[in-house]
Amino acid sequence: MRAILLLLDGLGDKPSPELGNLTPLQAARKPHLNRLAAGGCTGILVPYRQGVPLGTEVAHLLLWGYSLEDFPGRGYIEALGEGLPVEEGAVYLRASLAVVRKEERGFYILGRRPSRKLTPQLVEEFLSSLPQTLQGYSFRLHYTGGIDFILEIKGEVSDKISESDPFADGVYVLKVKPVEDLCSDQEEEEKALATSRALNEYLLKAHGILENLGFPANFLLSKWAGRARSIPSFKEKWGLRGVVLAQTPLFRGLARYVGMDFIRISSLAEGIRLLPQLEYDFIHLHTKATDDAAHTKNPENKVKAIEEIDSLLGEMVLNQGDLLIITGDHSTPSVGTLIHSGDTVPILFFGPNVRVDEVKEFDEISCSQGHLRLEGKDLLPVILNHLDRALLYGLRLGERITPYIPCYGELEPLLPED
Ligand SMILES: [Zn+2]
Repeated sequence: MRAILLLLDGLGDKPSPELGNLTPLQAARKPHLNRLAAGGCTGILVPYRQGVPLGTEVAHLLLWGYSLEDFPGRGYIEALGEGLPVEEGAVYLRASLAVVRKEERGFYILGRRPSRKLTPQLVEEFLSSLPQTLQGYSFRLHYTGGIDFILEIKGEVSDKISESDPFADGVYVLKVKPVEDLCSDQEEEEKALATSRALNEYLLKAHGILENLGFPANFLLSKWAGRARSIPSFKEKWGLRGVVLAQTPLFRGLARYVGMDFIRISSLAEGIRLLPQLEYDFIHLHTKATDDAAHTKNPENKVKAIEEIDSLLGEMVLNQGDLLIITGDHSTPSVGTLIHSGDTVPILFFGPNVRVDEVKEFDEISCSQGHLRLEGKDLLPVILNHLDRALLYGLRLGERITPYIPCYGELEPLLPED
């Protein structure tokens, strides 16, 4: 039996006046999603805690059964996703170009679009002009396309530092600072302070170089510092051989981090076509279309994205015994000003071992009448249960206590000569 998790990024939403006070999912025409809801078990999922908005990367780790302590920082996941040979002691940040105006009060961000396209020669010139060491730290900037880079910092480095990117235009570049709330002790605080100072100098130097080169953007903004963390692999944690099918490098990074295979797809349609031939226990099929549509802040766009996904579901072929789960990782409201919101998301389970509830439609409100109330951390245990792979709680089969029935062939038998 395989579990296929169709993850519609940012699926949950709020009601909007343009849609007659319905959510986009309520307003969309979605015969296939409704058919699956009617034939399966539905409910609502709280990815982390009610009211707390999550980013995609954190939400995914929680849904895969990891804790917030297992989160290494998005910069590290992005470095993995870009295929960088990451090192254990180093800190990784995402760095992106911006256009700023130097003022007495600081660097005022005019926008993120360079005035013209970056050429490979220009990027090369920039990279080779940057200092490689500053204040005892070594810096290395990797270009990853568009206006984006990954910055690697090595030395007595801390990842407990704040963003210089304010996540808004029309405001000033922020000074990088140690984040005291994240530092566990005095030593970490000191490292974070030293790292912040060196990074601030690096960003100012980068600005000078970009200006000198006549670059079409003149500031490098940093965010999401992260570093390696040792966590059990997805297979060790759940006993399932997993694969992630997604379109962006971030998912390659997430898959690499938890030790799942990764298949880069060009579209959800391609992922759906690949499904029947995939020999895995857990298949995570992801689409960003719902989230992207919601970020346009036009609810009609999200309705359209949902309807397109629904029509693709008409072509989805499930193998005998497959368990299909459809949900989102968080809510992305297409109304209001929030980037993501802390609302719940609807979820459905469809497959042979699933109790069928009374719910006939797949949306936030209908599914709240369904059978399930899940937190993110419950998702994998519920999947194991439906796959008939959940171990009786507390049984000690071997040296490790697992939530899944282990492979008996891998356990040590008692021999006659023992
Ligand atoms: Zn989003």
